[in-house]
Amino acid sequence: MKFMQFTNHPYYTKFGGSVQVAKYTPMIQQYLSIKADHPDAFLFFRLGDFYEMFFEDARKAAEELEITLTSRDGGGERIPMCGVPFHSVDVYISRLIGKGYKVAICEQVEDPATAKGVVRREVVRVITPGTVMEEKMLTERENNFLAALTRQREHYALAAADLSTGEFYVTDVAGDGARVIDELAAYQPKEVLLAPCLGKETSLLEELRLRLGAVITVTGEDELQSPEERSRMLGEHFPEDREQLTTPIQEEVACLLLSYLQRTQKRGLSHMNRIRRYDAEQFMVLDVSARQTLELTRSLREGRKEGTLYGLLDRTATAMGSRLLKKWLDKPLLDLNEIRRRQEEIQALTDHLILLEEIREQLKGVYDLERLCARIAYGSANGRDLISLRRSLEKIPDLKRCLSETNASALVSVAEGLDPLREVVELTAKSIADEAPVSVREGNLIKDGYDEELDRLREVQRDGRGWITRLEQREREATGIRSLKVGFNKVFGYYIEVTKANLRHLPEGRYQRKQTLANAERFVTPELKERERLILEAEEKSVELEYQLFTRVRERVAEEIPRIQMLADRVARLDALHSLAAVSGKYGYVRPDVNREGRIRITGGRHPVVEAATREGEFVPNDTRMDQEEHQLLLITGPNMAGKSTYMRQVALITLMAQIGCFVPAQRAEIGIVDRIFTRIGAADDLVGGRSTFMVEMDETRLALAQATSRSLILLDEVGRGTSTYDGMALAHAIVEYIHDHVGAKTLFSTHYHELTHLEADLPRVVNLHARCVEKEGEVVFLHRMEPGGADRSYGIHVAQLAGMPAEVIRRARSLLETLEGRLETAGTRQPDLFSFVESTAQPAGSPEEEEALKALKEWDLLNRTPMETIQFIFDLQRKLKSKGAGVDG
Ligand code: ADP
Repeated sequence: MKFMQFTNHPYYTKFGGSVQVAKYTPMIQQYLSIKADHPDAFLFFRLGDFYEMFFEDARKAAEELEITLTSRDGGGERIPMCGVPFHSVDVYISRLIGKGYKVAICEQVEDPATAKGVVRREVVRVITPGTVMEEKMLTERENNFLAALTRQREHYALAAADLSTGEFYVTDVAGDGARVIDELAAYQPKEVLLAPCLGKETSLLEELRLRLGAVITVTGEDELQSPEERSRMLGEHFPEDREQLTTPIQEEVACLLLSYLQRTQKRGLSHMNRIRRYDAEQFMVLDVSARQTLELTRSLREGRKEGTLYGLLDRTATAMGSRLLKKWLDKPLLDLNEIRRRQEEIQALTDHLILLEEIREQLKGVYDLERLCARIAYGSANGRDLISLRRSLEKIPDLKRCLSETNASALVSVAEGLDPLREVVELTAKSIADEAPVSVREGNLIKDGYDEELDRLREVQRDGRGWITRLEQREREATGIRSLKVGFNKVFGYYIEVTKANLRHLPEGRYQRKQTLANAERFVTPELKERERLILEAEEKSVELEYQLFTRVRERVAEEIPRIQMLADRVARLDALHSLAAVSGKYGYVRPDVNREGRIRITGGRHPVVEAATREGEFVPNDTRMDQEEHQLLLITGPNMAGKSTYMRQVALITLMAQIGCFVPAQRAEIGIVDRIFTRIGAADDLVGGRSTFMVEMDETRLALAQATSRSLILLDEVGRGTSTYDGMALAHAIVEYIHDHVGAKTLFSTHYHELTHLEADLPRVVNLHARCVEKEGEVVFLHRMEPGGADRSYGIHVAQLAGMPAEVIRRARSLLETLEGRLETAGTRQPDLFSFVESTAQPAGSPEEEEALKALKEWDLLNRTPMETIQFIFDLQRKLKSKGAGVDG
């Protein structure tokens, strides 16, 4: 029995089985039966002009959407209910999707007027965060990825698809869960599907939620296909690309994703026709933390594009170009040939700077072809979409012309690859009306002259209307009533209207009375009704015919989707390259020599984002020399604020830019391809993850030590800062040695422990650099210049002074520092013995306040506090003692 399906519905169990379910009205029974198939989604159940929700769905939706919860009789009991009007349903759906829910849309699939019993209803689509198609719910310049993951032993396979653009990627990754999450992070998926085998891996689930913030759906065992089914399914959907998938696990993950899309969308996915399988090893690896700290596409503070490398480089004219550029940044290349090809094209574009503007102008007129294709395949494209498509295609010939005119071979071949799809332009130009409305069901979207039958029907309507105008004229003359008029309304159709004042002029029985208004009467005549019938019939027929003609045009265009997509790819690429060329031209970037030699040599390098934010000429360029022989590990010392982390990031960003094929902010640069960039920068507590700053710091450093190869680039900023001085220094020391002796990766290591600079003498591939500053009239000036050798002091007090700390604190801190330094000198040691210093500055106590102050001072955990905290502590202490008339300072 059908009731068996209800077993997982709370109302089934609550009422104890089918007998109880049967007590509901037939419609509610139908609702429960459909709901049972969609337990994890809000079921929007169509009832006339509303979508209604019942039971638990209604309660939860009322809360989430802030709409009124009502109830209705469900057969003996009141059932909780709430609803939203069908015409504004998108707003509510998008709110629920935004909160990470799913929504199943259940429509009436037969005409209520002719239905016997309860109207048949079916779920026509399930909308989930990863399967949004609606323009309003998507961000123009961002992809909306749905990803799927499966595993076989230590081998993961991953697929990612964007329904709104038709992209479908597959790859596999060997190693632990962390590596997979890094790969997933490149897509920033809105939703992740997990194979049943991963559903119980709590640590993986936890990491996915924390690091990606995606909605997670675990697939049921019963939804898995057999290998034969997979093979058939892939063959049917991807007839040309099927052999792209080479292993069973890749097939499994592709099917997991595809079948979820088919199950939820229940309609054509013909735009998703290509599998792009890639080898994850073909790209530079960037983990979640490196992506964040280097601020590639999202800023650290606000998670926005502004202030990131992407924000700087994105001067694209189309949404497709912008999305592609982001993908390039998310996946820098290791493939030298492709890097050089991109460089070649950027070079040709920068050599023709005037052309850039023209290309940009043409590109601006190209709409989002990828998303247009998706809507066409999906059957949701309207007349305006086809006009947008035509206008976009009309730009292509000009674009080709201006590229070919350069005679630069790289650009000429780009031009040759652009397909203007003339047939599509011609077809849409002669069929779709220039002022096509949003709706495809209300006519006015097909041009005159496109279809004979439509022209004839329109002629009938025009004729009819002409006849009516003539009728009005004739009747005015016949009756002598000048204000007589013929009107139309939806309820009564055409009528003749005579004002009350004029009724006496109307010969009795001339017309049939139809309706009485306050100051007029409305009439009809048999011949008027006959005309009306002809007009309305023709109108109805033509609206229907227009819809049919339109869908035929759309289907014809849909056949060309692969060609349009190919064009979209090439336009996006041209746009991304044009953007990189424009930015390179604007900021004077140079073409780096990218090779496999393993060296990094940068002359006059700049941090692209910081430079763009500073006034022209104010950013101080710096050189970098790194290699595997003598300059493997640069140990950078210098005060806070001197530019150490800016320098380290700039080396990483220049390397990364070079590997996306872009030009770089430097006078000259040679970049040996780097396989991975590791970062440990800045103190960020992972509070959500429940890890302290120090734990995060150690974890990230461990990852670098464990996974870096001699081809990697490591950035370690102030490692060891999160613990006490001795601990931290010892750790930093040991880490430098380990990287030097065992890892061999090119490393930038900044530290405020200037004691570490002696490592240069012991380890042959360690080189000291310091951020130079000078003291002028007691004030420190940061030159932001990296110079050979180590720094000898920290200038912490200077920085405190710069930050506007009270003069008294600064004075006092200076005097304390002098005492400390004096003590260290007399003790003949380089290591500060802070405890003995604090003990000896404390004076014998007298008053209770002093007693208390002394106690607090003794208990102050100096080694686990930052200098700033200590200064603040002493400042407070002093103020307290002074206010009591006693002082500890002398
Ligand atoms: P540190 O890591 O040594 O504490 P930062 O790298 O954070 O210092 O730099 C501090 C500030 O100095 C930055 O915010 C930036 O505005 C400025 N700065 C850094 N490097 C340069 C440079 N090369 N030229 C000009 N300004 C710079």
